[in-house]
Order: sequence, then C-alpha cells, then structure tokens
Amino acid sequence: MTASRQFRLARRPRGVPVPEDFVMIEIDTPDAGEGEIQIQNLILSVDPYMRPRLDADQPFDQPMIGGGLGRIVQSRNPKFREGDIVRHGGGFQERFNSSGAGVQVLTPDPALPLSVYMHALGGTGITAYGGLLETGALKDGEQVFVSTAGGAVGSVVAQIAKIKGCHVVGSTGSDAKAAWLRDVAGLDAVINYKTQNLAESLKAATPKGIDVYFENVGGAHLDAALPRMNVRGRIPVCGMISMYNGGGEGVHNLFALIYGRIRMEGFVASDFPHLQAQFVSDMTGWLKDGKVRYEETILDGFERAAEGLIGLFEGRNAGKMLIRVAD
Ligand code: NAP
Repeated sequence: MTASRQFRLARRPRGVPVPEDFVMIEIDTPDAGEGEIQIQNLILSVDPYMRPRLDADQPFDQPMIGGGLGRIVQSRNPKFREGDIVRHGGGFQERFNSSGAGVQVLTPDPALPLSVYMHALGGTGITAYGGLLETGALKDGEQVFVSTAGGAVGSVVAQIAKIKGCHVVGSTGSDAKAAWLRDVAGLDAVINYKTQNLAESLKAATPKGIDVYFENVGGAHLDAALPRMNVRGRIPVCGMISMYNGGGEGVHNLFALIYGRIRMEGFVASDFPHLQAQFVSDMTGWLKDGKVRYEETILDGFERAAEGLIGLFEGRNAGKMLIRVAD
C-alpha cells in the first residue's frame, strides 16, 4: 500500500476553470494484483482537450483524464518489467495500478530528453505531422498560416512547414513567444493577436494568400484566415481553443469556402497510426539536427497539475505544458 495523490473535479467549471473547480485527494494504492502493473508517474501532459471534457464526460469520482510518462515500479504482468518507461492515459494521479491495456513501453533515444516523448515525439507531434501533411495535404513551397504557433502543436506544424520550404506565418499571444518563433523557429512573419489587428496583420503578412491554414483557435482567427485562402486551399481543423470555455466569437466569412473550393476537414491524433513509424523516424532526425526546436513549460510538483490546465487558457505555456511529478 502506497499513498498517492489524485486531482479530481470538484464541480463543473463555468467559463475559464478556476482552482476551486478541482480537488486534490490522497488515497492508498494497493500493491499490483495478479496480471497488473503499478506505474509511478514522472511527467503529466496538460492538454486543451481536457477542458471540454469537464462539461459532461469527466466523472467526479475518478482522477482527471490525461496522459503521462511513468516508470513501472511493480509488475505482475509478463509483458512489462520493473523499470520500464511507459506512456499511458492514466490521468492526473501520482501512482496507480493498471492491467497494461493502452500502456506503451518506450525505448527512449538516449540523445533526447525523456520529456520530448510527451510533445514533439508524442501526441502533439503526430497531431502536427499528420494534420499538416495528410489532412492539410501540404505541398512544398506553399503559403501556410498556423494559429497558436507558440504552443505544442503549432510550433511543430510551423517548423515542419519551414522544412518543406513553405512561407510560414504564425499567430501567438505574447511578444516573447513571437520573438522565439521568428528568431529560433525561423518563421517568416508572426502576429501577436492580442496587440495587433489580426485581420489587417494577416493580410499584410500573406501577400500570396494562404494555401493551408492550420486551425487551432477558431472564432476570430478562422474569420481572418478565410478571406485570405487561395483557390483549392485546405483548412485542417485541429482545434478551436477560443471556444472551449464557452462563448467565443462568431464566424462570418464561411462563404469564402464556396468560390475558393476550400476544403475544411477535422481530424484527431489517432487518425494516423499508418504514419507513426515515418513520423518517429522523421521527427527524431529533425530534433537531433536542430531542424525542429521546442520549448517546454514544466511546473514542478504534482500539486500544480490544475494550475497547469488553467494556465493553458491564459497562454502561460511556451511550447508544451508539462507537470514534473517525480524524477
Ligand atoms: P498549446 O498551444 O500548447 O497551449 C494552448 C495555447 O492556446 C495557449 O498557450 C495560448 O497561447 C492559446 N490560447 C488559449 N486560449 C486562447 C484563445 N482564447 N484564443 C487564442 N489562443 C488561445 O496547446 P496544444 O496542445 O498545442 O493544442 C493546440 C490546439 O490543438 C488546441 O486547439 C487543441 O485542442 C488542439 N489539439 C488537437 C488535437 C487533435 O487530435 N485534433 C490534438 C492535440 C491538440 P497564446 O499565448 O498564443 O494565446
């Protein structure tokens, strides 16, 4: 029996979540039973998709939904060894038992930090790769606009597009993130949507229009991008974070889809198992060659998990938002 903490929902948030919407409890985790493993969480992934789940799907008597990286500390399942590093969807808890279903043993590349398996080489990385190259059907040298370009998905999308020789414009909500995108990630233009007029700045930054708009925000971002789309342009719809807390701005320019013959298509990360091997090979090489750079915002301590989720909606993360639970 080992003590372990969990974050649970205390009440359904109204609008942007606040700390009182969550409660941290301590429970005793029994030893792993026959056929089970026990996982000690090392790093928690904090992701925008968690917010819409809080409105209905997230039960009150379970840890908050979420993925993470952990170490197997007990194994009574022959498929796993103690000491294995695993990726899992065990939620916001320090330590837990599992049958092993959905738990993936990693063979981390020693030349890369473990945390990259939670972003560039993990869920947000394959989302960027599959969403841009397959759903967005990106061609070399095209005109690309990426919203939330300073975040986990957006920063990888923008840099893959640069690798493919594209003209890349990004939007973000802070001057510091904008500077990183220009100076480190090598974007051609960056718009701070909080201090600049988005529609006017996007028009100025896209003199040749937009072939692919990688949609992460929705609302005013989508409205600004639609009139800039070139004929046969594509809008892979990855997310619409401006809508997740309710409200958000309406979209008025959807008619641009008609004469532009524009394809707008949603997708989810799990749509791309057929790309996984090529993705891992490409991304590992790009990370090692410095062609894909990344930022991480790591909050130290399990007790900061809810703070991390709230922080996503305040733009507190540069790159991927993570919680360090243990070493
Ligand atoms: P992220 O971009 O690393 O973090 C969220 C960022 O969103 C914040 O840092 C903030 O950056 C921006 N933001 C927050 N509220 C906003 C608002 N009202 N308007 C505009 N920007 C806002 O998160 P991520 O994990 O990479 O996710 C990015 C998008 O991809 C989200 O929409 C997410 O739902 C989606 N996604 C989809 C899939 C899929 O399978 N389809 C998988 C992963 C992620 P600023 O400082 O720039 O405002």
